[in-house]
Formats: sequence, structure tokens, C-alpha cells
Amino acid sequence: MKPGSGLFLTLEGVDGAGKSTHVEWIVNQLRQAGLDVISTREPGGTEIGEKLRELLLHDSMHLETETLLMFASRAELLRTVIEPALQAGQWVVCDRFTDATFAYQGGGRQLGSEPVAALAQWVHPVTNPDRTWVFDVPLELARERLNRTRDRDRFELEADSFFERTRAVYQQRALDYPERVILVDSSRSIEQIRQVLRSDIEMLLERHKG
Ligand code: ADP
Repeated sequence: MKPGSGLFLTLEGVDGAGKSTHVEWIVNQLRQAGLDVISTREPGGTEIGEKLRELLLHDSMHLETETLLMFASRAELLRTVIEPALQAGQWVVCDRFTDATFAYQGGGRQLGSEPVAALAQWVHPVTNPDRTWVFDVPLELARERLNRTRDRDRFELEADSFFERTRAVYQQRALDYPERVILVDSSRSIEQIRQVLRSDIEMLLERHKG
């Protein structure tokens, strides 16, 4: 958290956990508190990033390529959207960020954390989220929610073991970074989850004012 700067908030979780459901609601809460807020998503959020998203979600590729394209999309988003917004005092809400690369490529695809940490250090040594909510659900519930909503992309079609490894990394990151990462039990109702988010947002607003 830098003086004069907005806060950088991210939502994370396995596909179907329910994170996208809360993005707009969080943005509205912050706007009602009088803040200037933008929301964006990863991969994507820029013209180049959205083209990379299409490739990433639908085309097979080597793991190294996938990881580098995630960071290519991230670099473009950071330089053109996130960093200018934070410097202008805006708050940024982002659907996924580098924790997702640790979880999906590092854990799900078993790349390990070291290459991801090295790329993060290169691409964004300074700009890191101030708060990350990880929406956590068991496999069965995530699958059920995905079935209800949409055609699956190639990440969403992965095996159960991939899901479990990805989820485990997210859970571990909440343990490793307790000041920043909050694990939200996303098997609860949307209203119950909003109560948790509401009190956390109030705390962030207080802390930011002070
Ligand atoms: P994600 O962005 O994590 O992939 P979504 O936000 O798209 O997940 O949610 C997937 C589906 O689950 C949507 O149909 C959404 O309405 C539903 N959903 C999300 N959160 C909950 C919840 N807490 N309880 C019941 N259904 C939920």
C-alpha cells in the first residue's frame, strides 16, 4: 500500500468456485464508499491480452509457452491498465492474477513455483495485490456450478487431480501469506459470502483512511 495510491484487490479460485459472481458486487461496494474503481480480468483486460486469452483458453501448447503467455498478458495489463490506475489513485479489482499462475501452472500442471516466482519478480517486482480473496470449494461443487453455466474451456476440462493440485496451492498460499490472502468458503450462499467480503472491505477502507 503506497501513499496516494489506490489498492489492488484480486479474486482467485478454481473454475466454478464463484469468484466472477462477486466482482461486480465488490466494485459497487467500493464505489458506494466514494472510491474511483476499475475492474479487469486475467488473462485479458487489454486488446493484446484478450487475444492471448483466446489462445490460452482454447489452443494446446507447451507448459512453458502457456506460462510465458500468462505473464505476457499480465505485463501488458500491468503497464497499460493496473499500474497507471493505481498511480492515479484508483482502486483496481482484478479477476485472477499471479496467484493463479502459481496454482494452475505451478500446481495443476506441476511446473513448480520457482519459474513462476522468477517471472513474477521480473514482471512485477513492486506491484502486488494488497488483498486477495481465494474462493474455495470442493471439486464436486465446482463441477456442478460449471455444468450449470457454460461450455468448458481447456482448463475447466482438466482431470480431478489437476483440480485438487490447483486448489491445494491456493490453500497453501493463504497459509503462506495470511496478511494478504483470505480463504473464503465459497460453498456457502452468495449472501453469506458477501457478509464476509463486506466486513473485510470495511476493514480495508478503515486501514486505507488511517
Ligand atoms: P468462477 O468465476 O469462479 O469460475 P462463477 O462466478 O462464474 O465462477 O460461478 C459459477 C456458477 O456458480 C454461476 O452459475 C454462479 O451463479 C454460481 N455460484 C457462484 N457462487 C455461488 C454460491 N455461493 N452459491 C450458489 N451458486 C453460486
